[in-house]
Amino acid sequence: DVARRLAEDVSPGATADGMPVNLLANIGTAADAARVAGDACEGVGLFRTEVLFLDRTSAPTREEQAEVYAQVLRSFAGRKVVVRTLDAGADKPLAFATQLDEENPALGVRGYRLVRTAPELLETQLAALADAQRVTGVQPWVMAPMISTPGEARDFAAAARRHGLTTVGVMVEVPAAALRADAILAEVDFVSMGTNDLAQYVMATDRLRGELSDLINLWQPAVLDLVAATAAAGRRAGKPAGVCGESAADPVMAVVLTGLGVTSLSMSAGAVPLVRYAVAQHTLAQAEAVAQAALAADSAEAARAAAIAALVPGV
Ligand code: PEP
Ligand code: MG
Repeated sequence: DVARRLAEDVSPGATADGMPVNLLANIGTAADAARVAGDACEGVGLFRTEVLFLDRTSAPTREEQAEVYAQVLRSFAGRKVVVRTLDAGADKPLAFATQLDEENPALGVRGYRLVRTAPELLETQLAALADAQRVTGVQPWVMAPMISTPGEARDFAAAARRHGLTTVGVMVEVPAAALRADAILAEVDFVSMGTNDLAQYVMATDRLRGELSDLINLWQPAVLDLVAATAAAGRRAGKPAGVCGESAADPVMAVVLTGLGVTSLSMSAGAVPLVRYAVAQHTLAQAEAVAQAALAADSAEAARAAAIAALVPGV
């Protein structure tokens, strides 16, 4: 059937005229890595390491972490693996690391900001990742979540490089980072846009409040504007600018993101075949036209409708 035929296509992601768009998987555990390593993805675009820290009363040790990171690197040897450092706080509270009664946790000490209150967590994690790199001989990419300023990006990059990790990036999921993407990119080797949080912060809408889902819709033109600005900065810098939020899994949005100049799309592995198919149906110029149609809309619904109309003329 069609789904199986699409899943059997193992070619790397590319537009019809051969512009590469890396198609990557989001994972949370070593078991995920083992399960999806056989799928037709070009690597891991987001390893959410906080999963290792959940449901515990203390952080995993350096040795425990190194073992898990090594398993993931071995599963994907020869392919790219982007490891995200701990993103605790807000929707991912951790009893031993975050202040559970914070008034506005989404605006508080979460993600990279934990370095202010518990710097040893990041140090141990980077050391464990360096250990895994040493024992496997596989070099991971490493990135930090919730970066707001070029200074934070610089400090994170310095810490990672001190540990011998050479390919260092940050997530762009705070509007300030998207608005200042050129300065952020001057500090790091790549950026990855987290569209779930980017939409939450651009639209000032809690990502966990289902009744506000119309506002936090990933097609909101204001969200697309910041994705476009970040991708353009990536192109100016000649550095990868990917998307690893839920946006990447929507085949129509994937064409828009390709047209905006996004260089990789990371999603749940099951979404890769349809996204590969959608991206391959259009040239880069066509994808750019689809993206411009979406950007010109004045609502999320109109943006998606305009993208579909541009994708399939006459429908
Ligand atoms: C995001 O914010 O889009 C993202 C990929 O990270 P998380 O969903 O884990 O916050
Ligand atoms: Mg996020």
